[in-house]
Amino acid sequence: SQEEQVRERRLSAVGQLAAGVMHDVNNALNPIMAAAYLLRHHAESPEAVRDYADRIRKAAEIGAATASRVGRFIRQEPVHPGGDVEVDLSLLAEEVLDLTEPMRLQRSSESREVRIVRMFTEGAITRGLPGEIREALLNLVQNAIDAMPDGGTLTVRTSVEGSDACMAVRDTGVGMTADVRERAFEPFFTTKGAKGSGLGLAEVYGIARRHRGTATISSVPGRGTEVMVRFPLQKAAAPEVAAPEEILPTRPN
Ligand code: ADP
Repeated sequence: SQEEQVRERRLSAVGQLAAGVMHDVNNALNPIMAAAYLLRHHAESPEAVRDYADRIRKAAEIGAATASRVGRFIRQEPVHPGGDVEVDLSLLAEEVLDLTEPMRLQRSSESREVRIVRMFTEGAITRGLPGEIREALLNLVQNAIDAMPDGGTLTVRTSVEGSDACMAVRDTGVGMTADVRERAFEPFFTTKGAKGSGLGLAEVYGIARRHRGTATISSVPGRGTEVMVRFPLQKAAAPEVAAPEEILPTRPN
């Protein structure tokens, strides 16, 4: 809208950076808050208390790593060539699902359960910055959960397609209208009012581009959304992977 365009122009580079930092801080805090809620209301045994405490620590560590990353960015330290490593998308996806489990557990405790389906392919490996790719996945999973206020199914898929290593996050949520889909990657575009920053998908897009990859959205209003990110495949020793189409259920388009 016009109002958003005005707002966008007003934001200085510093303001944009601050908004980005706030977004990342929020992303780190959400799993911590959910785990603390569960610790307060649903930890029935000493083991459960320890488990939630571990989750809080792990989420806080990832938050701290994010803060260091932002710090490096502010100081304009170059991501030195060779600083990138082999990234196994399936391992990262598992890590992100683990990290966001408290958010989903909180939902099930409120009978708005988010079911998880994992469809991982071996060898979905790229080269890049694992912190960034983790942040991208976290944004996608967060959006998928937001899109299913009454619960639903979250499918996280990794695959090898031609010379691409792919990761896709799908939900059975509210979906996007064509208008929203067209603008979804724009920085500061949000339909979530004060709760949204409009930076999640913009960050996903930027991360995909920096890794010489792409990000695409397929969505059907009322049915659900899939965001697919493709990275250049890092050829591993073991070839032969199942054609991903063979294990795909019908996808929204
Ligand atoms: P934010 O989540 O802060 O609004 P994003 O850039 O992540 O910012 O998303 C922009 C907009 O795209 C959201 O406000 C929402 O309208 C739409 N969107 C993103 N992901 C989904 C999804 N999984 N399902 C439905 N709509 C989505």
